[in-house]
Amino acid sequence: MGACDELREAAYQNPYLQYMYSYPHKTAYRPLENLSLKEYAPLFAGGGHGLYLHIPFCETKCGYCNLFSVAGEDAAADRYLDAVERQCRQYAALLKPYGAEFSEAVIGGGTPFFLTGAQMERMFDLLDTYFCFHADRGLIIETAPNQTTAEKLAVIRRAGAVRVSMGVQSFSDRELAVLGRRHDAARAMEALALLKSFDFPCVNVDFIYGIPGQTAESLCASLSKALSYEPDEIFLYPLYVKHGAGLVRKGVVPDPAAAYAQYLCAGRFLRENGFRQDSMRRFVRGSGKRAFSECGFGTSLALGCGGRSYAGNLHFCSPYAITRKDCLLRLDEYENTDDFTRITHGIVLSEEEIRRRYVIRHLLICPGLERVRYRQRFHSDVTDDFPVLKDWMECGFVQETEFLFLTKEGLGLSDYLGPQLISPRVGAAMREWEEGHEGTHDFVPRQSEKL
Ligand code: SF4
Repeated sequence: MGACDELREAAYQNPYLQYMYSYPHKTAYRPLENLSLKEYAPLFAGGGHGLYLHIPFCETKCGYCNLFSVAGEDAAADRYLDAVERQCRQYAALLKPYGAEFSEAVIGGGTPFFLTGAQMERMFDLLDTYFCFHADRGLIIETAPNQTTAEKLAVIRRAGAVRVSMGVQSFSDRELAVLGRRHDAARAMEALALLKSFDFPCVNVDFIYGIPGQTAESLCASLSKALSYEPDEIFLYPLYVKHGAGLVRKGVVPDPAAAYAQYLCAGRFLRENGFRQDSMRRFVRGSGKRAFSECGFGTSLALGCGGRSYAGNLHFCSPYAITRKDCLLRLDEYENTDDFTRITHGIVLSEEEIRRRYVIRHLLICPGLERVRYRQRFHSDVTDDFPVLKDWMECGFVQETEFLFLTKEGLGLSDYLGPQLISPRVGAAMREWEEGHEGTHDFVPRQSEKL
């Protein structure tokens, strides 16, 4: 068997190793000492920065959830916003001398719409009181069907939301029950219709495939229903069951072959219905190509517990937590923090890790990685630094024009190929974390040592 056959066989055996939405993964972060945001504040001089606010509350913890979120803490939101306000005040004082201006605010979670309308008003007031935004700031927020009300949508419209993302996941009640979602299909349709009636510039709907019992037909039936509401974007997420999520305890193990067949079918369906594919997960209404935007170096400041900040080679956030016990512990620590400018947990990236991050952040999304630009930044050739890319070109997973980009086949294997770019050091740290946590799966490819 040739090298390509071997690679292909391994990739198709399980294309779903790891979602590489950011690198390094938070499980590779470790305690940091003697670091203060003061030293990094000059990086926030001038404009172009991102602000992220994490709202960690949800109605229920979904069976697959590996995000920082807790359910049943309705009474905790005001206390949490008090802590966010203290953090805002301290960060704002630190950034003031540098004239920091933010071009984007992202509110994620958890379920930001879990807050009451009044709490949401307070949240936006906090941002506007303590931070400067560009006149055209992009305000992005996530919602869930059960929490979507006209009152709250009016609040985010007044705040200037430009993109609203709704986690529908499926329009099959049976599949929603397997996932442990609290809403049903009827509620999701009602919420989506309401959301669309507010005319936000971009409405995105999230779906999951690879759910036990789901078929390509039932997935496409869900997508077809979604299309009747004319969303601007659709994200298709393969089901991952990891890190002590509820479905792990129930013994649910996704079937990668079934998931991949569903992915192929859904991708075809969306392309036939006027969507272009920008990454393995992202489908955007319309033709043409996504414009290149250089990413991976941006500065982004996170507020709240569980969000991560990026400041040059420093990435930091509270320790990774999934289970209720761990999340509550971190929330308690957050709410009792006196000095938010002390950085106690994260990672300082070496030059080599910055290169890896750059390749991961560009290759996995259209239009790909511009070779010339890589050379200008790092003074070397990307395929010399990462010879594995040559193998992928030979196997037809990557093509080259002025960009190196994943082919259609490569896009579908993003969650297998991307993890091969994890460094041995980061891979070892991730494995160490997994080994110390019950109910996790080994998802870091050992092949990464080859690079
Ligand atoms: S998947 Fe989303 S809605 Fe479900 S518990 Fe996690 S953060 Fe909350």
